[in-house]
Amino acid sequence: MSGVLVIAEHRQGALREATLECLGAALALGGEATTLLLADAPDALAGEITGRTHGLKLYAHPDLAAFNPELYLPVVMDAVKALQPSLVLMPHSSQGMDLAPALAGRLGLPLVTDCTGLSWNDGALSVQRAVYGGKAMQELALKPAATVVATLQAGAYQAAPAGAAETASESVTLTELAPRHARRFLEYLAGVVEDVDIAEADILVSVGRGIGGPDNIPQAQALADALGATLSCSRPVADAGWLPKSRQVGTSGKTVRPKIYLALGISGAFQHQAGMKNSGTIIAVNSDPRAPIFQVAHYGIVADLFEVLPKLSERFGG
Ligand SMILES: Cc1cc2nc3c(=O)[nH]c(=O)nc-3n(C[C@H](O)[C@H](O)[C@H](O)COP(=O)(O)OP(=O)(O)OC[C@H]3O[C@@H](n4cnc5c(N)ncnc54)[C@H](O)[C@@H]3O)c2cc1C
Repeated sequence: MSGVLVIAEHRQGALREATLECLGAALALGGEATTLLLADAPDALAGEITGRTHGLKLYAHPDLAAFNPELYLPVVMDAVKALQPSLVLMPHSSQGMDLAPALAGRLGLPLVTDCTGLSWNDGALSVQRAVYGGKAMQELALKPAATVVATLQAGAYQAAPAGAAETASESVTLTELAPRHARRFLEYLAGVVEDVDIAEADILVSVGRGIGGPDNIPQAQALADALGATLSCSRPVADAGWLPKSRQVGTSGKTVRPKIYLALGISGAFQHQAGMKNSGTIIAVNSDPRAPIFQVAHYGIVADLFEVLPKLSERFGG
């Protein structure tokens, strides 16, 4: 095999969207995409991957209900040795950050993390990744290597569409997992949702520094109420305490994918876009026609948001 090997991720019995994004990247790279799915009941999760990968290898064992790097590592190492992929790709999540370096270290393979773009250049991998806390983008041309291990930033790629590939699946029997392992999964503790979970909202009205100050938040809230939407924000708004940190969208906030994302006075910095660019319909209101938010917006209004806000509230307020 000279294609991409994707390591699937699941939590609490559900496949993680980041796996489908890795498959989106793998298919965009061209060539064969094979997915490894290790779980207690992988058949139950396979449906979402089928049609988005060429090969699917299902590994079942009761101890694989939750991620344990010590149990994953020997299985993934064996698969890499057998399949000889050009690239092993997994999400840049707590799981990927644990598994990818261990895999690369044990097999002596190059590792590149938190990639936002991947491409082949004369048989060698080129990647884009953010550096200096997102202030600059780096383009790395890796030396040619038989296999590279990489992790992919959430939201960097669209999920592979259903039906993009014809899938041949295979169930692989695991007789024994790593017999001696130091770590044991005890319990999954979900993060505390302080007020509302913006990731659950169908419609988000999101405010940026252009909202001017905390006194203007009620105007945006009125529009959100009229639309049955939830209020979210960019980082400066949360940093200034105009809205709680739990409302922040972006790389250091939450990744959201509502049906409608209305951005008011948000410039659309890379770190913000990474958290919202896969929303269904993006509408941006910004007084600067060159604001980067317009590059991802489906509809753009170049205007003072304080002229637009009352009109929208009136229109939808009934
Ligand atoms: C490590 C790191 C992590 C980060 N994480 C995040 C993150 O998770 N989320 C995030 O959002 N940012 C994040 N940032 C910050 C990010 O780089 C930007 O600084 C931030 O997104 C800018 O927020 P903004 O668009 O609200 O403000 P600005 O960039 O100041 O933009 C304000 C916009 O409002 C417009 N405007 C002003 N007045 C009006 C008006 N009256 N009507 C209409 N438009 C108006 C302006 O034209 C401008 O485009 C991070 C940065 C770093 C370094």
